Amino acid sequence: MITIEEVINKVQKKCSDTDTDLIKLAYDFAESAHKGQYRKSGEPYIQHSLHTAYSLAQMRADCNTIVAGLLHDVPEDTKYTLDDIKKNFGEEVEKLVKGITKLGKIKYRGIERYRESLRKMFLAMAQDVRVILIKFSDRLHNLRTLDALPPNKQQRIAKETLEIYAPIAGLLGIERIKWQMEDICFKYLYPDEYIKLEYKYEVEKKAERQKYIQKIKLILRERLAKEEKIDYVVESRMKHLYSIYRKMRIKDRQFDEINDVFALRIITNNISNCYKILGIIHDIWRPKPGHFKDYISVPKPNGYRSLHTTVFGLGGRATEFQIRTREMDDEAKFGIAAHWHYKQKGSAEPRKQPKWVKEILEMQKSSSNANDFIKKIKLDVFQNRIFVFSPKGDVFELPEGATPIDFAYAVHTDIGNQASVALVNEKVTTLDHRLKNGDLVEIKVNKNRKGPNHNWIKFVKTKRAREKIKQNCRGAGIKKFIPGI
Ligand code: MN
Repeated sequence: MITIEEVINKVQKKCSDTDTDLIKLAYDFAESAHKGQYRKSGEPYIQHSLHTAYSLAQMRADCNTIVAGLLHDVPEDTKYTLDDIKKNFGEEVEKLVKGITKLGKIKYRGIERYRESLRKMFLAMAQDVRVILIKFSDRLHNLRTLDALPPNKQQRIAKETLEIYAPIAGLLGIERIKWQMEDICFKYLYPDEYIKLEYKYEVEKKAERQKYIQKIKLILRERLAKEEKIDYVVESRMKHLYSIYRKMRIKDRQFDEINDVFALRIITNNISNCYKILGIIHDIWRPKPGHFKDYISVPKPNGYRSLHTTVFGLGGRATEFQIRTREMDDEAKFGIAAHWHYKQKGSAEPRKQPKWVKEILEMQKSSSNANDFIKKIKLDVFQNRIFVFSPKGDVFELPEGATPIDFAYAVHTDIGNQASVALVNEKVTTLDHRLKNGDLVEIKVNKNRKGPNHNWIKFVKTKRAREKIKQNCRGAGIKKFIPGI
């Protein structure tokens, strides 16, 4: 059980300038609205709202997002409506709550359900990324209270989370939410494997691991004490059970082979100290060839930054270090949510992001206030792009006005080259049809087709499709018919 005071404390710790009075008001409103309602676990319903808000505070979400987190189930489950929310908390909060309410309604089953839920997540994200943050926090608490539900529901929710929510959290770089979700789902979906791994990790190996890590820390402390001006903390990293399980499955290895690697994280005050510490570590222990990764100069596509290295530690045992700044660490844990925070604190270095996240951040830099920013996101970033779906439920991001041929080339060059019939939402359409957000697109190929039709160039919208058509027409020997190539 948690209280609103705990939520507010968390908020103040993470962002001291938040309007906590509004949060308190939202709590009073939600508390009276949900009065007399209980969760399946027997707890008062408001506990769910509080836990949702608490996770949002941990992610350093802004005030309106936390308010919306407290109110997110009000229109669905109480006598109060979205209008009441608008009157009391304003239009922005109303929109966030509305986004969440819409996400919740999914009527399909099986693969249809999967596709629909994925589609809704992307559409909600297109409207306002904060809706997804609230949904993640909501889902996390639902997962933590899954025990109260019947087994078939547990399975359905866990499966959906593992297939949809966790990957999207990864896409947004919110690692902390991703692994928390994964480990809970793992427990419900593969209980035997979970119990076995948990026992090995938490019981059999724990003492040995802690002892080893203590020794490593001691050696490091001695060496780093000689260096001036290096502030740092060492954290021993939890290896997440689902990620161990996945590695065992994918690489077909035994637990000991994977868990033999001890993992430590060093957090320091600036980038040059990251490299200094790396140098010191490599000086003490011999690095394992091929294991050094510099994600600071070359960040991962989701924006992740850190130095990684594995060394032959004490007794030659493989020991993995991640070295990064506090800001990088927050970003790795909270992803896009952390950017808002650091933006507020005035630090903003250019870095690699998925294209649309990057654009969001660019826009955030040039916006004078939050409202302005949200408006711009809607207009500029998502206005001119759409998300469409393959029959398997894969999501493709395309520019507005894209056609089935653009989609075909986005899936695979061969599919583009041999495209003959397009089905949009299960109806046959022309190949130059304008796709809309959320369309389900299927391309039928003709294996006898030698290459694309160069007339397609006239209507395709993506660079990829245009280039592939040019290349493959050229290959087919019709170069001379296309002027300018
Ligand atoms: Mn909820």
